[in-house]
Amino acid sequence: MNQTVLRQIVITGLLLFLGFACTPREMLDEPEAVSMYPAFDTSNMDLSVKPGEDFYLYANGKWLQNNPVPEDKVSIGAFREVYDRNQEMIKTLLDEAAKDVDSDPSSLRGQVGAYYTSGLDSALIEEKSITPLLAQLEIVKTGSSGEIVETIAWFHSRFMAPVFDISFYEDPKNTDLVIVHLGQSGLGLPEREYYVGQSERLKEIRKEYQDFLGRFFQAGGYTPEKAEAAATSILLFETRLAEASMNLIDRRDPQKTYHKMSLSELKALTPDLSWDLYFNTLGLNYDQYYNIHQPDFFREINQMLTEIPAEVWTDYFTWNMMDRMAHYLPGEIYALHFDFFNRYLSGQKVMEPRTKRVLDQANWILGDMLARLYVETYFPPEAKEKMTELTGNLKHALKQRIENVDWMTDKTREKALVKLEAMRIKIGYPDSWDDFSGLTLKRDDYFGNFLRIAAYQFDLEKAKAGQKPDPEEWHMPAHIVNAYYNPLGNEVVFPAGILQPSFFNLHADDPVNYGGIGVVIGHEMTHGFDNHGRQYDENGMLNDWWTAEDAEQFDVRAKKLVRQYDNYVVIDTFRINGELTLGENIADLGGVNVAYDALQLAKRDNEMKNIDGFTPDQRFFLGFAQIWRRNMSRETMIRRIMEDEHSPAHYRVVGPLENVNAFYEAFHIQP
Ligand SMILES: [Zn+2]
Repeated sequence: MNQTVLRQIVITGLLLFLGFACTPREMLDEPEAVSMYPAFDTSNMDLSVKPGEDFYLYANGKWLQNNPVPEDKVSIGAFREVYDRNQEMIKTLLDEAAKDVDSDPSSLRGQVGAYYTSGLDSALIEEKSITPLLAQLEIVKTGSSGEIVETIAWFHSRFMAPVFDISFYEDPKNTDLVIVHLGQSGLGLPEREYYVGQSERLKEIRKEYQDFLGRFFQAGGYTPEKAEAAATSILLFETRLAEASMNLIDRRDPQKTYHKMSLSELKALTPDLSWDLYFNTLGLNYDQYYNIHQPDFFREINQMLTEIPAEVWTDYFTWNMMDRMAHYLPGEIYALHFDFFNRYLSGQKVMEPRTKRVLDQANWILGDMLARLYVETYFPPEAKEKMTELTGNLKHALKQRIENVDWMTDKTREKALVKLEAMRIKIGYPDSWDDFSGLTLKRDDYFGNFLRIAAYQFDLEKAKAGQKPDPEEWHMPAHIVNAYYNPLGNEVVFPAGILQPSFFNLHADDPVNYGGIGVVIGHEMTHGFDNHGRQYDENGMLNDWWTAEDAEQFDVRAKKLVRQYDNYVVIDTFRINGELTLGENIADLGGVNVAYDALQLAKRDNEMKNIDGFTPDQRFFLGFAQIWRRNMSRETMIRRIMEDEHSPAHYRVVGPLENVNAFYEAFHIQP
């Protein structure tokens, strides 16, 4: 279930998985916005738990008891609430655009209106049945390795990633140049571990997956016998890819995924894969070098090209198309896909209404087209001013922390300060946008609209190869409720979507904003200095600026954090993987520390009062803990432990706080 529609880069987002989104400008201007979206709510708390016992439960216990996961969701919490509210706002935009049937089809409103209309027209989608799928599958040719390579390129040029993945971004060792990156991909299950792991749960998942594939192929027009055979071969095919794949931990290591090669070296690596044919089919005009993230994986693909029979390749491409396009096909096909991936694998009991599913798709697929309409309508200019002030204070607090780290030598400290000084901050939305004028979407072709947008977006990406990177570029649409640090640009980015309650409240008191968006800002800035981020210098280059002794000191502390998180048992025998989540856990800890320090600096200028019987410092920690209130289905929780580099919400609160002295002091806890 690869959703490789928008560029996936090495950016480190605040969270994975959840889609997310704003409050209309007028609403933010009204004082009742505060009570409507309270910064934190004392009725959420469970006062029978002592703050020193489990602060997450102390801050959120009542809320957790009263808010079970709804049947049509896999989780519920502050992020999800903001996401749902944002989706309602996006729905208003799309409803208006859809109603305006006379708008210029090449305008943004015309395009998003056409996409949304086509998605809601389920009667027409049912009527067409699988005709669009069968017509598109005509492009699949597998008679020779050349034809297979051309077919792979067709998929790749529409942002689907069977077999392997191509992307275009800076060379981490020369960030003045955008190069071509080639990496592992091609799995139907979420991760390598699902194919090679030996737990009973994973064995059962593989069995269920194979059964699902059989049913899915039948819905795509295969006979029962042929469908069963195809299901068996797909599982074997993908298991081969999985066995040759790097695990999640290594894949996050920028040194292990760096293998610079010339075109002739690339050709020597995979003599049976014609790169000339592949790049020609993509229409890629590029004469620089390549980064092959996992050379062993490509050696295996080369073997597979000569060993796997043509009909298995055909089945594999058919599966990839049906998997990616399931949302765009008739209800029967989507229902099968839902049953396996959402219900069985993730614990979502009931499908959401069609409108919401189309909105979820639109959220990412429409990208900047939607983002531009969104910020024009919803983003208040005063939010940008307030954020500029907050990020400035956070940066200042982080600077003071670096100046005072007692284990760092001055040599490394100076470099760290240079890196922090150079760190760019982007707030709200980009200054310039692509106008999408070359794109035409149709009101009666949902399936085709996806392919048109994907091809258009891929062409934009492809054009970057061999060029200087554009420092003004954003890697996340502005309406998304999330934030990221991009190590290659040494920049932190806060889209408009996250600048709303309960993360960011123009009318809330400082402690609560510092506990919400302040911690988010601190988290992203700390990524510049986590176990991965610290390997990049102030220009985003993979370039070691640490003295050996400071690096060693860093590792000693990192190992302690790995051990701390390794000991958290989440469900049954499922523990957090301390090594996988290390970068995020460092950022979580840094986020709380830096935001707390910044609040102390802000307090000096303005006297703060107790509210609801809590001191400003207590409100900071309570606001922080309530941001992470979340209930989650058991299945999704298990998935996240295996797939996600972020710790579960409960541990994003208690994990950092265990190491924060100010927290113990604020609540008079004896450590
Ligand atoms: Zn993060």
